[in-house]
Amino acid sequence: MSSGSSENLPPALDITSSSPNANLPPPPAPKAPSSLKKALPSLASSYHPTLNTRNSSSVSSASQLPLWWKCRRGPDHEWRSTISARLAAGASSGTNPDCPCCLNLKVSQTNSLRVRHPNLAAAWHPTRNPPKWTPDTLLPSSRALVWFICPHGPDHEWRVPVSKAVLPGGLDCPCCGERKVSVTNNLHSVRPDIAALWHPTLNGAGKNPETVLARGGGSVWLKNVDVDEWEVALIDVVDVEGLPPPPPRVPLGEVVEALEDVLEDLENREAAERRRREAAEAARTEQQRRQIEAEEEAALGPQKNGGWKRRFSDKVLSLVPKWGRSRGGEGAQ
Ligand SMILES: [Zn+2]
Ligand SMILES: [Zn+2]
Repeated sequence: MSSGSSENLPPALDITSSSPNANLPPPPAPKAPSSLKKALPSLASSYHPTLNTRNSSSVSSASQLPLWWKCRRGPDHEWRSTISARLAAGASSGTNPDCPCCLNLKVSQTNSLRVRHPNLAAAWHPTRNPPKWTPDTLLPSSRALVWFICPHGPDHEWRVPVSKAVLPGGLDCPCCGERKVSVTNNLHSVRPDIAALWHPTLNGAGKNPETVLARGGGSVWLKNVDVDEWEVALIDVVDVEGLPPPPPRVPLGEVVEALEDVLEDLENREAAERRRREAAEAARTEQQRRQIEAEEEAALGPQKNGGWKRRFSDKVLSLVPKWGRSRGGEGAQ
C-alpha cells in the first residue's frame, strides 16, 4: 500500500516513503540550510543585533518566523517582519524600503510631532489630553483631536485634529482671533464701563458681559439711570473713548407733529377705503338693475324689439341737450 502510493508521487517529493524505489537515483543528501548572514548578507546587515534570540549566522535564511530588524536612519527604527515579507518588499538591496518609521507608519525619534512640528509641542495642553497622546507618540498625520493652549490667557484652550493643526494657520488661537470668548476678550474685561450699562432684560437669556465678545461684531442693548434704552454695535464703541451716549431725545413738539401726521394719514386711508366701498356698492346695484331689466325683457318675449327701441330712444334722448328735447317736445305737441 505504501509502495503503491509512493509510485504516484514525483521523485523529488518522495521523501516520506519508507522504501525508496530501486529504479530511481537516490535522493540528494539533505542540504543544511544556509544562514541568513551567508545566504542574504544585504538583508543580514539590517538584522537587529540584540532583539532576536539567535544571531544572523545561526538563523536560517529559510526561516518563516517574524524577526526583528533595524534601520540605520533612526535609533528607534525597529520592527518585526519575516524574511520572505522583506524580500517581497524589495529589501534585499541593502536598503530598507519596508521600514515603518521611514514610511511614517510608526512614530519614531525622526518623525514625531515634537521633531517635525515643535510649535505644536509647545502649545500642547498639559492636562486635558489623554496620557497616551503626546508630541512624542503621535505622527503629524494623526487625526487625534488634541487640546492646545495659548500663553495669552488662562482659558485660551481649544481642540483641533493634529492633521489640521500642522497646516499653515492651523494652530491659530480662536480666543486671540476673536472667534471664541475668553477672560481676555469679553465685554466685561475689555470695557467694564460699557458693561455696566448692560440692559437687564433686552439682551436675551444666557447672555451677559462675560459671554459676549467685545470685538466680535455683535450688538447689545444698554440702559442708563435716566431710563434711556438703546442698542449699540460694539464694533462702533468698544475702541472709542468714553461711554456711548444714548440717542438724542425728540422734542415734545416734534412728537406731537409726528402723531398728527400719523392720524391724518389714518384718516386719509379711511376716506379712501370708504370711497372704494361706495363705488363697489354702486357697481353691484347697477349690475342687479341690468339683470332685472334683462329678465323683464326675456319675460315680455314678443315685445323684445319694442324694448330695444325704447332703450335706443332713451340713449338718444340722453345725448340731446335738455333744452333741445323740451323744444322738440313742445313742437310735437
Ligand atoms: Zn527607517
Ligand atoms: Zn490666545
